[in-house]
Amino acid sequence: MEEAAGDEEWYTIALWGYFAMAAIMFVLVNFCLSAPYGRHVRRGWGFSVPVREGWIIMESPALFVMALVYHAGQFHLQHVPHVLLRMHQMHYFHRTLVFPFRMRADGKAMPAAVVASGFFFNVYNSYIQARWISHIGVYPSSWLTSPQFLLGVAIFLVGFLGNIWADNVLLNLRDHKEDRSYKIPRGFLYEFITCPNYFCEIIEWLGWAIATNSVAGFFFFLSTLANLGPRAKTHHEWYHKKFNDYPRNRKALIPFLY
Ligand code: NDP
Repeated sequence: MEEAAGDEEWYTIALWGYFAMAAIMFVLVNFCLSAPYGRHVRRGWGFSVPVREGWIIMESPALFVMALVYHAGQFHLQHVPHVLLRMHQMHYFHRTLVFPFRMRADGKAMPAAVVASGFFFNVYNSYIQARWISHIGVYPSSWLTSPQFLLGVAIFLVGFLGNIWADNVLLNLRDHKEDRSYKIPRGFLYEFITCPNYFCEIIEWLGWAIATNSVAGFFFFLSTLANLGPRAKTHHEWYHKKFNDYPRNRKALIPFLY
């Protein structure tokens, strides 16, 4: 897409800052530490907050910062930006206001540091995505019927639905809200990989990158891969240590490959 004149220079700096942040995050989570929440939570990370509230706070900028920055954009009334906003908000409405209430998380906590870093990421990422779709990128209405846009939307929807399905399988492994046990998930994609929820989330943002046809979207896809790829590996190793009968042929993240 073409770029409109205006604050592109500042945006380009912010975009490369975003790329640098994703690269640093990849090095940290791949070589230094696993983010200390869920099964990898551990002492030494300062004070904690309840998991459900932590998720809502952490993800909320993807709703309100996205909406604010989007509506400040010069193209916010145009069709294509509007459809892209709806796609983004559909994912984050579920992640912020549905998923946390479905977790079996009563009595569980996560470090405030994790919430703060997730919150910061979502503020930054929402600015990068919203500013692109409603102000910097220029999308003619014909983009809505272009093969690339339709392909991107189709991939996004497959990833979105797959992510919800995969999270549901995990959430249903626990019988009640206080249940903290872990079981081996089974069925469909779980027969091939340990983390279908991460795989589908990555697919989703690949679809976003294709539909937005933007560096911003591509960097979002990369940052998701950089974050969830190493975490999938850590989950995979954890399952093998915890369950002697964990299926040997399952890969961590990508069927048959990784
Ligand atoms: P996990 O797969 O670690 O956990 C998801 C939920 O299922 C948690 O409530 C977890 O409980 C529970 N659970 C997981 N495995 C089992 C099991 N074997 N038995 C019983 N319960 C289980 O995912 P995350 O919490 O890391 O992420 C949640 C969602 O957020 C995912 O859809 C992910 O794609 C998305 N996400 C996206 C990111 C991005 O960069 N875009 C970053 C992080 C997450 P518990 O918490 O107690 O372990």
